[in-house]
Amino acid sequence: MAETLDIDLQAVLDSVLERGLKHMGPGKVAAYIPALARVPAEKLAIAVSCVDGREAFAGDAEEPFSIQSVSKLFTLLMAMKLRDRALWKRVGREPSGNPFNSLVQLEYEKGVPRNPFINAGAHVTTDCIVTDNDDPKQAILEQFRALSGNDSIQFDLEVAASERDHGHWNAAIANFLKANGNLESPVDDVLDAYFHQCSIAMSCRDLARAGLFLSNRGVDVRTGKRIATERKTRRINALMATCGLYDAVGSFAFHVGIPAKSGVGGGIIGVVPGEMTVAVWSPALDANGNSYAGVKMLEAFTNTIGRSIY
Ligand code: GLN
Repeated sequence: MAETLDIDLQAVLDSVLERGLKHMGPGKVAAYIPALARVPAEKLAIAVSCVDGREAFAGDAEEPFSIQSVSKLFTLLMAMKLRDRALWKRVGREPSGNPFNSLVQLEYEKGVPRNPFINAGAHVTTDCIVTDNDDPKQAILEQFRALSGNDSIQFDLEVAASERDHGHWNAAIANFLKANGNLESPVDDVLDAYFHQCSIAMSCRDLARAGLFLSNRGVDVRTGKRIATERKTRRINALMATCGLYDAVGSFAFHVGIPAKSGVGGGIIGVVPGEMTVAVWSPALDANGNSYAGVKMLEAFTNTIGRSIY
């Protein structure tokens, strides 16, 4: 903490953004959800929220974008609170070593997804929320609004509809879970909630604030409210560290060294425990579906401030 206070955060973020600019070439914006393909590839942003109350940002950090799988972090939190230990009978805690939407692994592991961050695992956590709430989509939205302190956060209905219209792969996953007895609610209800949570539009500033409790032992810095127990918070961070970047998680641990969660909208949220939460955005993705320049910016960031959990 004391060390963090000595850092000129704004200068660090400005130089990290410069580094990101140099890595805008190789990635590709996700095209399998047509509404995402329209997002300009040149967007670039970073924002940091610190447990000591400081904030800094650079680039397009106030522009909302589709958070996609970053949402899985927050629906995991909700499912852990709803089901506690029983959740872990339905979803595992191991890195998948496979693409985020793998069907084949789900078949040979009999409908129990490897972890809550691959699509199949997120369908299970969303299923818990759908089963236990009269208005699950609103419950999910409210959680994002409360954690970020921004009541104007909305679903991007165009993105949600676009993903639904092209969502055959996710429908296959959800039907497969249902056939294996691992979905409680109707498949269509789970998919509807899932596509909406992925469509939620937030800025890097919103995301850094929403995830700050993960850096602060489960307590919301802004309100002082406990969001999760210390144990649950540690466990969520452990899952991010081992499963948050899909099949690239080893390389990310090697180069960046902090728990993080990515989404195909090009956002990534990262946690420096005890100090700060950082969010980056650059829509062009690498072959694993992680933001290309986003990973490079996080690498530059943790290396510049000299942080790693390892
Ligand atoms: N909505 C996307 C999907 O289900 C989320 C995937 C991601 O961000 N990795 O394909």
